[in-house]
Amino acid sequence: MFQKILIANRGEIALRVLRACKELGIQTVVVHSTADADAMHVRLADESVCIGPPPSRDSYLNIHQIVAACEITGADAVHPGYGFLSENAKFADILAAHNITFIGPSGDHIRIMGDKIEAKRTAKRLGIPVVPGSDGAVTEEKEARRIAAEIGYPVIIKASAGGGGRGMKVARSEADLVVALQTARSEAGAAFGDDAVYIEKYLEKPRHIEVQVFGDGAGRGVHFGERDCSLQRRHQKVWEEAPSPALNAEERAHIGGVCARAIADLGYSGAGTIEFLYENGEFYFIEMNTRLQVEHPVTEAITGIDLVHEQIRVASGGGLSVRQEEIRFQGHAIECRINAEDPRSFTPSPGTITHFHTPGGLGIRVDSGVYSGYKIPPYYDSLIGKLIVHGRNRVECMMRLRRALDEFVVDGIKTTLPLFRDLVGNADIANGEYDIHWLEKYLADED
Ligand code: ADP
Repeated sequence: MFQKILIANRGEIALRVLRACKELGIQTVVVHSTADADAMHVRLADESVCIGPPPSRDSYLNIHQIVAACEITGADAVHPGYGFLSENAKFADILAAHNITFIGPSGDHIRIMGDKIEAKRTAKRLGIPVVPGSDGAVTEEKEARRIAAEIGYPVIIKASAGGGGRGMKVARSEADLVVALQTARSEAGAAFGDDAVYIEKYLEKPRHIEVQVFGDGAGRGVHFGERDCSLQRRHQKVWEEAPSPALNAEERAHIGGVCARAIADLGYSGAGTIEFLYENGEFYFIEMNTRLQVEHPVTEAITGIDLVHEQIRVASGGGLSVRQEEIRFQGHAIECRINAEDPRSFTPSPGTITHFHTPGGLGIRVDSGVYSGYKIPPYYDSLIGKLIVHGRNRVECMMRLRRALDEFVVDGIKTTLPLFRDLVGNADIANGEYDIHWLEKYLADED
């Protein structure tokens, strides 16, 4: 087992990882920018190293400084959290070259999944169902027309190097297609430095369903069930739940089994998420994230398994603590992402939290790094906390969520709490009847 883990992140996820390390009796080092000197994870860590000024590129993305912090403190492993360097293959390679363990998959696996064309090709080879579309990059107009006619309109053009929901164009007819192809290519080139684009069938009303997987790096793969993350705004997840209200036990076991086998065949190590669009009973792979996800706590709630413990165990060579048949799903869990944003316009609302009171009681978990008197810096994303609620079934979970939202107090700044108080009373949400466009339509109708 590791002696000392360096946590290369900030905010709630840095605290989340720190807690796991403490439970496992592992020493902790955190790195932070000058803007985060007062953060909770910095206060609670065994050691901390200031690695630079507020902008991420000078601190949390500064590989050189982070490796130096490992060497100074004698850390033998790095947990990257999510975002920042968590899916940076070069970072994983550099740590390996310094004999420091990256708590995550190999640089090569990160690289494959980071290139969406390559990821889709790999998924297909591993027997994962993919969205019908081009086999690789498309550059010629003629070829684009042929493929689109074959799969049928509407189609979506996506950037191979894309991410964060950027670089996508929908074409509803052949007339749209030519323009969409040109704009997608030039936008991808400008945004990602790579103008490779591919075409796939555009699904009209899918749900976003993702499968949590783990590999032990030695040919074993398991799945921890699915999460439904269909409630999104601008491709950003807002509310996540497990299990999905749309799946039955048979579908769950089937897609979970397909993903677990694929992970085993790939020889993958650590946590991963295989994301699908789901429509009319069919799953369509869209991408794989090679890291811990923001929404991992809903999976922990229904399985009772600490996924960060598992990540650390696997990375240290100790293997997974559970076999597939030992992973049981109990009850229902929902996560609300609480952002420091105006609940209507979603403009960021940094500033000082004058009062912070979190709900409690059975089935309630709050993952947050903030406290009363904490000043939210304006430099980073606006997530200030996650409320995760567990109940024996979805109805109990929703009742408990409504109560917990009423108890939650964040004063001094604006937050998205009022949005969740509205959602929890909505009939479609109560019935679990929503697709990936539901939330944006709801927000547009409210205006
Ligand atoms: P990114 O890496 O940028 O997040 P994804 O491939 O995961 O890109 O897609 C992001 C979102 O775009 C999906 O959650 C979905 O809302 C939409 N999307 C992607 N592909 C399709 C498709 N073939 N049909 C319909 N919507 C899609």
